[in-house]
Amino acid sequence: MLEALRRIVQEVNNARDLEQALNIIVRRVKQAVSADVCSVYLNDFENHRHILQATDGLRPEAVGRVRLELGRGLIGLVSERAEPINLDDAMSHPRYLCVIDTGESQYHGFLGAPIIQNRKVLGVLVLRQRERRHFGDDEVTFVVTLASQLAGAITYARTSGELARLQHDGIPQRFLPGLAASSGIGIGQAVVIYPPADLDAVPDRVPEHIDAELDDFETAVSQVRADLERFMQRTSSHLNAEDVALFDAWRLMLESDTLVDGTLARIRAGNWAPGALRETVAEHARVFDAMDDAYLRERATDVRDLGRSILMHLEKRTAAPVQYAQRTILVGESISALQIAEVPREKLVGLVCTGGSGSSHVAILARGMGVPAAMGVSDLPVGRVEGREMVVDGYRGRVYVSPGPAVRSEYQRLADDDAALTNELQSLRHLPAETTDGALVPLYLNTGLVSESRPLGIEESAGVGLYRTELPFIVRDSFPAEAAQMANYRHVLELFAPRPVTIRTLDIGGDKPLPYFPMHEANPFLGWRGVRITLDHPEIFLTQVRAILRASIGLNNLRLLLPMVSTVSEVEDARQLIHRAHAELLEEGYQIQLPPIGVMIEVPAAVYQIEALARRVDFLSVGTNDLTQYLLAVDRNNAHVAKLYDELHPAVLRALVQIVEGARAQDREVSVCGEMAGDPLATFLLIGLGVHSLSMGAGSLLRVKRVIRSISRARAREVLKAALGCEDAAAVRRLLMEALDGIGLGALVRPGK
Ligand code: PEP
Ligand code: MG
Repeated sequence: MLEALRRIVQEVNNARDLEQALNIIVRRVKQAVSADVCSVYLNDFENHRHILQATDGLRPEAVGRVRLELGRGLIGLVSERAEPINLDDAMSHPRYLCVIDTGESQYHGFLGAPIIQNRKVLGVLVLRQRERRHFGDDEVTFVVTLASQLAGAITYARTSGELARLQHDGIPQRFLPGLAASSGIGIGQAVVIYPPADLDAVPDRVPEHIDAELDDFETAVSQVRADLERFMQRTSSHLNAEDVALFDAWRLMLESDTLVDGTLARIRAGNWAPGALRETVAEHARVFDAMDDAYLRERATDVRDLGRSILMHLEKRTAAPVQYAQRTILVGESISALQIAEVPREKLVGLVCTGGSGSSHVAILARGMGVPAAMGVSDLPVGRVEGREMVVDGYRGRVYVSPGPAVRSEYQRLADDDAALTNELQSLRHLPAETTDGALVPLYLNTGLVSESRPLGIEESAGVGLYRTELPFIVRDSFPAEAAQMANYRHVLELFAPRPVTIRTLDIGGDKPLPYFPMHEANPFLGWRGVRITLDHPEIFLTQVRAILRASIGLNNLRLLLPMVSTVSEVEDARQLIHRAHAELLEEGYQIQLPPIGVMIEVPAAVYQIEALARRVDFLSVGTNDLTQYLLAVDRNNAHVAKLYDELHPAVLRALVQIVEGARAQDREVSVCGEMAGDPLATFLLIGLGVHSLSMGAGSLLRVKRVIRSISRARAREVLKAALGCEDAAAVRRLLMEALDGIGLGALVRPGK
């Protein structure tokens, strides 16, 4: 019996789909226990019934037709009790129900086993015998074991829509939920990829020749570096500045002492190269894993991906060549950037990852490349979808496997609409962001690091509205020296000159600690962060400011921005330090103009002191990401309260009004550089408020420009006024959606409108 069990399990695992799996079970089980009938009933919870889904022994036409009300008959009893029921004579049981359609009235012997997954009964596996029969203990165990084997396949079929199709022909299918990571609709064929090499499985080993190990490792690193270069060359035309920045971060990691020197040191200490690499990567990844900031935690994945790529070269393994379908949807538990790079761009139509989140590297990359993506689709059984047709709804983070005709054609229509929209947006590239009544609202870029190549977003933007300086600090082992920092800043200032570049001073701390600057705080968001740290460490601040000022020599397009300001003395102290750095540089003989200095408005205290702050600076920039989290007391990275985080909350809107009014009273310009600036829904509000400029990720530029060019400032003011009358974020959202639909641009934020 054990052998029969093993064979059946194997056959079921290889089944093409649920229907085949069920048919294998009923046929094989009937044979193995010499029963007259074996059937499977599945519970259809939505319609409150048990449906006969497969049978060997009853009339085949009955499959799908026999439907019992949930809880009725002996099937209902097994389901209710969630345990097997073994009866010599079912017909004499009070719950016995005669179902004419199946012709089962003649059967006495009955064994029913529940199919259970996560405490939920999904259906019942039933054996019947014409004569009276009491099934033996080993037969009961056999049937119970097989029933549990079926549970996984049924759960998958339920979520993928396959079961709905089996049960209700043509009724819209269920989807696999995930996180919306890159908007758009992708329809194609699943190509499943696996991690290139399993770093965690590498054992420790004492090398025979340490020198040879050192050589092998260095060669592997340079091969990965060459792969990266190749990838950047191939993709730079599809990427925006932010994405290229991530690859630069990889490059920096490859050059960093921690990863390379750390591994070399471990080899010298007596481990072979793969073992030394495993330990180094684990140590480095742990530092990122421990961070509260979701974006930074994702960098642990980068470190591991890099480690795996190096290991692949060390093992001299080249991944087996994958055949990419004409319309490939890349599917994997974790997908690395280099694996994406292997797919010819014209063939890649979607990305699906069972892990990760919206701030995962892959998600950011997908957005930059304009490839629809869903992350965190945890219910997707990666091993069973190869070659299947798939739909990725990147707007809602949904995935459909083998969609039925109705779902498929609906999504095809959405994809066609989307393509038309993308083409239309391209035509805006060289047009100004100007309202229909002539108000110009320059659109700037948010970015981190800028690479050698000329990525997207540079031509379309009016400059850089927020240059986050944290990345180069994070990927190193110690504070970067003035010269190294300067080279970085110089590059971005040159790239955009003469357009302005707003460089924000270091905003580390709290949720973004540096690996080499330990801090442990019970309440990091309310702790030592941004300017609070840099003012306590003038040596860090002065070095950075000197580097930034020196980088601007001769270009004069620099603006300096201070993060996390909550009191006027912070601005005064920071200004003093900036003046000191400037004076020192003049003394050293550098010809440097003092740049305009601005503050981020991202703490409620700053909102209430807006005029006092505005008087002390040249411009203001609203960080709606932090402002929302502090106003609503909702951690921006905490999934438990994610539903409460909403920048359209009336409190945020009121704060924005106060900021703009205060700035106006002091005759200062206000920009918005949080995520809200890149949301086409919010454009009405921000234009209505009269903010002077917006700064956003490259992917949002053309969408927001499209809205600006379609509305008048007068109309935006009307919408703002109505929004200020709303009492919750949902009402504001509805109002804005209507306004966007009213100008025919609903498709910018959701498909099919
Ligand atoms: C913000 O808080 O809105 C902002 C732009 O800064 P960061 O997201 O870097 O905290
Ligand atoms: Mg912020």
